Amino acid sequence: MTLSRIRGDWAPIIPKLVESPAPVHDPAFDFTCVTNRNLILDICAVNASKPVNFDLARALVHELNVRVHEGLARFFPNPAEFMHILATTNAVVSGSWLLAFLLSPESWQPKDLDVFVPRGPPGQVIEHYLQLMGYVCTRSFDGISAMYIGDENAMQRVSYVNTWTNDALGVSVDIAISVTDFAVDVIRGFHSTIVMNMLSASHIIIMFPDLTLRNVGYAVPSMTPAVRAKYTDRGFDLVSSNDHLDGPCGLACPSLVRSAFHPKTTVIAPIDSRFLTLRPAVTPLAKYWSAPVSCVNPKCINNVFVKMGGKPVED
Ligand SMILES: [Zn+2]
Repeated sequence: MTLSRIRGDWAPIIPKLVESPAPVHDPAFDFTCVTNRNLILDICAVNASKPVNFDLARALVHELNVRVHEGLARFFPNPAEFMHILATTNAVVSGSWLLAFLLSPESWQPKDLDVFVPRGPPGQVIEHYLQLMGYVCTRSFDGISAMYIGDENAMQRVSYVNTWTNDALGVSVDIAISVTDFAVDVIRGFHSTIVMNMLSASHIIIMFPDLTLRNVGYAVPSMTPAVRAKYTDRGFDLVSSNDHLDGPCGLACPSLVRSAFHPKTTVIAPIDSRFLTLRPAVTPLAKYWSAPVSCVNPKCINNVFVKMGGKPVED
């Protein structure tokens, strides 16, 4: 009934919305002991191997897909339906819920979901869907995004944030609307690299995998104490510079230019086996990012001094 109502109201915008059951665990594989973090890394490793073991790749991706649906079931009775909405709108899930999913699904379970949406009709589509799912808009921030983003420039990337609450489920969903056509433009402006991760309809993207998967993040100096405490209390190490590194930065360099097309700078794991060899639509070719702090490591070639003509310090 829900889908038919959406089709009726938003037929011009959602032409391909289809009914789809939630996926179930494949009985042929037992990944019970594999953490979400390792499952994602295994998918990347299998995908990068030659020749690719497609049976194993599909099994790993399917397991990740099942876990994503299980995680989202707290917010939506039919997570597959919500994933269709993400696909239709090019919106992404990010923030604490995704970080918890990536790193510690047992010990930390946020009750709020952050969804980042391109400007224009996609926001209306998602908020209409939330209404149909029993959510009520309980808070509205017009152009105020300090709760997500820690510096003045980045705050300009969000046009508004609405909080939708579902008392029956005991959860809430924040809808943040980008000022551009891409949700990634908001996420690469976050207060720290620890939350620069995305779940799209087709992929999980970790924008700073070397740091995030070790519970380390580069943070803007202006990060508020409350936000900083939220993450440090959960075991994350937030640093505002890389001067602690003893040696070249390598893939941990904050000034390293990253994109979906720069190998090893970003983890991109498909959650749908149809996308095993395809790039996610939410990170187009033209989008690049680096950390919100600059490299000050004298042993790194990305150091500002080195870039101006100096030589990196050698041991
Ligand atoms: Zn560096």
